[in-house]
Amino acid sequence: MANFRLNEIAGLIGGTIHAATDSINDPLIQSISIDSRTIADVNSCLFFALRGVRHNGHQYLGELYQKGVRCFVVSEPIRLDQFPGAIVIQVDDSQVALQQVAAAVRSQFSYPVLAITGSNGKTILKEWLYDLLHESVKIIRSPKSYNSQVGVPLSVWNMTDKFELAIFEAGISLPGEMEKLAAVIQPTIGILTNLGEAHQENFAGKDQKLAEKLKLFTSCQTIIYCNDQKAVHQKIQAAFGQSGKQLFAWSTADEKADLFLRFSREGASTQLQFNWQGKAQQLQLPFTDAASLENIGHCLAFILAAGYGTDAVFAAFEKLQAVAMRLELKQGINNCVLINDYYNSDINSLTIALQFLRSQSLSGKQSRCLILSDIAQSGFSGKELAEEVKRLLDVYELDHFVAIGPNLCQHRQLFGGQAKFFQSTEAFLTAFDSSEFRNEHILLKGARDFRFERIASVLQKKYHQTQLEINLNALVENLNRYRAHLRPDTKITIMVKAFSYGSGTVEIARALEFQQVDYLAVAVADEGLELRQAGISTPIIVMNPEEHSFEMMLEYRLEPNIYSTQVFEKFDRAARSMAVSDFPIHLKLETGMHRLGFSSSDELEAIAIRVPREGRLRIQSVFSHLAGSDSPEHDDFTARQYKRFMKLSTPVIANQPNKVLRHILNSAGIERFTDYQMEMVRLGIGLYGLAQSDRLQVETVARWTTVISQVKPVAEGETVGYGRKGEVSNPRQVAIIPVGYADGYDRRLSNGVGKVWIAGKQYPIIGNICMDMSMIDVTGSNVQAGDPVELMGENISLNELAAWMGTIPYEVLTGISQRVRRVYVQE
Ligand SMILES: *Cc1c(COP(=O)(O)O)cnc(C)c1O
Repeated sequence: MANFRLNEIAGLIGGTIHAATDSINDPLIQSISIDSRTIADVNSCLFFALRGVRHNGHQYLGELYQKGVRCFVVSEPIRLDQFPGAIVIQVDDSQVALQQVAAAVRSQFSYPVLAITGSNGKTILKEWLYDLLHESVKIIRSPKSYNSQVGVPLSVWNMTDKFELAIFEAGISLPGEMEKLAAVIQPTIGILTNLGEAHQENFAGKDQKLAEKLKLFTSCQTIIYCNDQKAVHQKIQAAFGQSGKQLFAWSTADEKADLFLRFSREGASTQLQFNWQGKAQQLQLPFTDAASLENIGHCLAFILAAGYGTDAVFAAFEKLQAVAMRLELKQGINNCVLINDYYNSDINSLTIALQFLRSQSLSGKQSRCLILSDIAQSGFSGKELAEEVKRLLDVYELDHFVAIGPNLCQHRQLFGGQAKFFQSTEAFLTAFDSSEFRNEHILLKGARDFRFERIASVLQKKYHQTQLEINLNALVENLNRYRAHLRPDTKITIMVKAFSYGSGTVEIARALEFQQVDYLAVAVADEGLELRQAGISTPIIVMNPEEHSFEMMLEYRLEPNIYSTQVFEKFDRAARSMAVSDFPIHLKLETGMHRLGFSSSDELEAIAIRVPREGRLRIQSVFSHLAGSDSPEHDDFTARQYKRFMKLSTPVIANQPNKVLRHILNSAGIERFTDYQMEMVRLGIGLYGLAQSDRLQVETVARWTTVISQVKPVAEGETVGYGRKGEVSNPRQVAIIPVGYADGYDRRLSNGVGKVWIAGKQYPIIGNICMDMSMIDVTGSNVQAGDPVELMGENISLNELAAWMGTIPYEVLTGISQRVRRVYVQE
């Protein structure tokens, strides 16, 4: 890790130091951070307060100070008298400062630095190069896909003189960004993977995007690319043909390319032939898909161009494994939660995974367990690695530690009595006792060689094969799309009622809390209680508060929707008996939905006057709900609802000493009536992946899948299923899947109305849907038992499935039964 004195850093970034009187003189900085939630090492950490569109790091300075952080880089004025002992470096732009510090770290080293850019494959390429080369050269690489304006400097900060090769990814989404990344990375070799459609929206066209990407290579001596992409070839030649740089092109079509590769498929593997330095080489690759082969082409081109091509490295290609790019959260045995991360295993990614573990287990009710394999991180001795692991265990307050691998075993004396040690994954499995894992969050973090998926399978709760996979990245991405569509200061309530539209309560709420949403809203008080008991502290609104739960709501800070004078009186009485003061309530106004809500301005006025006078309650917000925000035919009505809302709410607000939030928009309303956003909006189905148009480009969040149980022929003249509905006129091939109407797979999908997706194609349901099973007509395919089936997801959209069922997407999502296990994935 880099070590700088604070004064040195101030010099590097041209900042002015302001120190409180009793601050430490010129402290040593060993880590940098931009995220108040993930700081572990408060004593030697320098916090950069960044200002984003939505988030402002300066808001967290107080919280960080409380935690013990004393060194800050800021771009807003700070009252130092509030932070005794703190030291602040004042700069114009703290993101620029972060990049300058990283650039200074980078400049200290003269070993080769590879930068990878392109639309796809960057992370896998980086990981595979590491897999192929780490035995021969000491490599530092970006953790996960840290490739942004902030991720790159955080990665580069970790360079030290222990390494011999650095590999960093660079990703951009806006013009002007690449120059900044190039200045931080200062690469000596570059790879352009390919050019797709991702992040196209902010660029004038493909040409502009490519031109922007090429700026990464200004300092490179060697540039590697595949010249099968003609546009890429031409642009690189035009930009660098005369520059004196080495352009190293590989191809599967052009025999005169610097490296000509011949791929030929052989069953489940691919043979790769090429000539290098007059010698014919042949490799057997365990992949057949085009994307993997392209990544392998880039790996090989780099290895040869950079002079790492030895027999041992060639042999390593045959052992390459798919890279699991995401972290998975699953229900485990004995009330455990399992977090699987078999991604790269180095100290950085371990730190990231531990942060995730902590964010998932904050309530303190569940203990934290880590099952960790040896880490193969070049540049550190076995002892140093073990010591670093021990330090992280303490910082992240692990309760239970299982270590697997010879190196950790060798240094077991560092860890004290509680930890358990095994030489290998097999040894762990042989000794496995399920009763040792109970009520824990278990993080499984293993290098790929250790094949921790075998441990996952014994710790995982065995359900039936049908599952709903929730992509937490897509969920957060959708949240950001809606946020970007609103004014930066508009608050957001997320509707997590009805099991978050079927996607899960606590896990979703945790992810949203981490994203610092302003409010969560549930339908009934019990849903709110569950969130509080899981440690969620974000404010929660209860939409249908019931009298019997008022005391519990007051105790757990669950804020009621007050929709009538009677409810107000009863809640006020409960508030009096519990002797609370200033407890937030939300008034619902009737403007045209004719569901719950005040319609009398006299009643409202009486409450508006009483509440501030008595001081027990506080009107935190007033709101209403649109009846037809999704359809243009009701736009006039929507406008009238808004007017009515303004008329009813204005006098209420005028009578309050506090600032009252006003809100009327749901998802469709946010999309179509941004002018009505006021101080807050309520986001529901849009977050879960359904928008009115493609303007917001929301992503699919939920994938409902199962696995084929059996495939069998059905002869002509036979029928399939109950009621003998599926009549067979020609011989058919029928696949049985373990999902039925008891899972929420509606009976209206019977007899060809619904379809499922198997291996690239849709196949119809045959016969009636049963309670726990359905039959699919797979005639003419070579579909087999064990093949995965998508019921809903990328290939069968929620809208399509809802249309087949003859209902709306809301009912489909909320109807997926609880016995369908929810699996959460995160990149
Ligand atoms: C469910 C609900 C929403 C969210 O509606 P979507 O159409 O899912 O965005 C907003 N407000 C209220 C009062 C709701 O009950």
